[in-house]
Amino acid sequence: MPPNKTAAPDAPPSARDGPPRPPSVDRLLSHEALQALVDAHGRTRVLETTRAVLAELRGPRARASGAPVDYAPGALAGEIGARLARGDRPALRRVFNLTGTVLHTNLGRAPLPEQAIAALELAARHPTNLEYDLAQGSRGERDDLLAGLLCEITGAEAAACVNNNAAAVLLALNTLALHKEAIVSRGELVEIGGSFRIPDVMARAGTKLREVGTTNRTHLGDYAEAIGPRTRLLLKVHASNYEVRGFTASVDQRALAGLAHEHGLPLMVDLGSGALTALERWGLPHEPTVQEALQDGADLVTVSGDKLLGGPQAGIILGRSSLIAKIRRNPLRRALRIDKLTLAALEAVLRLYRDPDRLAERLPALRLLARRPEDIETVAARIAPVLQARLRERFQVAVERCESQVGSGARPADRLPSVGLAIRPAGRGRGGGRALEALATALRELPVPVIGRVTEGALVLDLRCLEDEQEFVGQLDSLQPGHRSGEAEPP
Ligand SMILES: *Cc1c(COP(=O)(O)O)cnc(C)c1O
Repeated sequence: MPPNKTAAPDAPPSARDGPPRPPSVDRLLSHEALQALVDAHGRTRVLETTRAVLAELRGPRARASGAPVDYAPGALAGEIGARLARGDRPALRRVFNLTGTVLHTNLGRAPLPEQAIAALELAARHPTNLEYDLAQGSRGERDDLLAGLLCEITGAEAAACVNNNAAAVLLALNTLALHKEAIVSRGELVEIGGSFRIPDVMARAGTKLREVGTTNRTHLGDYAEAIGPRTRLLLKVHASNYEVRGFTASVDQRALAGLAHEHGLPLMVDLGSGALTALERWGLPHEPTVQEALQDGADLVTVSGDKLLGGPQAGIILGRSSLIAKIRRNPLRRALRIDKLTLAALEAVLRLYRDPDRLAERLPALRLLARRPEDIETVAARIAPVLQARLRERFQVAVERCESQVGSGARPADRLPSVGLAIRPAGRGRGGGRALEALATALRELPVPVIGRVTEGALVLDLRCLEDEQEFVGQLDSLQPGHRSGEAEPP
């Protein structure tokens, strides 16, 4: 139906007795406030939203409430516009990670360096030589694009890349030990983030798991006894997200490699976080590197791209050429392959490793991990009074020392000294917990949601990962703590 051009859009509601009558959709749409929405969102969506809003205003709930309805086009346009804007909000949104966990799996792990973002954009926009050999003018291999850099950095003979480290483990086991056995210590049968369990992955890879030792102690002899005609490899899994302390024993990787090689078997090491460089240089705790694992006799090493490496989600398999060649021939690889955007970003990240002196400056994951508490404190001291003013007398904001962690399973027991804003409800009365929860909710409702952590009666915003101070402070104006009903006013 075409819009009714003759109707005056702002015609006052009927002056007759009884409730005002809703305007026709056509008349509404010809009003300039709604025309602006049509320009922004398209006629179809505005039409649908307008009908929905009008239907609600006429609906039983609105009638039951008995509240007078404002049918003025200006008022309706406000509501319609707000709905359209809410509907336009993407599902995947930027957030401020102030949890203190730098590589937070639920918040997307490593932020990418600018170089990687540029590479990703280029690969998104243009055709590329993804699987095309420019020198020969013939088909190429996407893995070859990264293998050179990976081997240069790690000293590995060969490399392959897949979708993530879980895929790397799956593909390697399926290639080397299908319907055969892999031996692994009971102390290393780990679960990572609830969905990656080494025993389950091995089962799906078609590999029979041969467990040896006990949860806390495994000896070289345990492995030696388990080796039989069906054994195809020894597997060592890096204890990445837990620590067994006390009466423990695990077999040194070199000794394990020696044993494997005596029997003509490969040793595979799933490093998980796997750093590509020694992190002590930046004052961080030691994390086993890929280079060390290879030097200590591993024939295959698997790592994640988006943990300590600081790149995009990817799985990297490094090691002996003969094994990598077999892995590359596995038909499953097609289902697990690295996509072109990831490949572009990963290459750019790997290039940064060639210049270790500037690595911490350029690689955000490392820059955040290496941030000194003194520097974080300076930021905290600037922000605290602004936040305090915004929260008025309802909460107390204090600059306090806290501890960050690496995250993604790296160095679970190590903490990085940091500084945060500890927010506590003013006064000691009941309802403080609810007030804090309401504040945490309000922070998550900001244009760029802020995610902190509630501990021991305080909401702590660890500022280690805050680099956009201006943006953070700028949006505090729209913070509305406790605007929801149900929040207890502190006494
Ligand atoms: C994180 C991790 C994995 C899984 O890696 P994703 O890249 O998340 O798939 C596997 N093994 C270990 C030891 C890990 O730490």
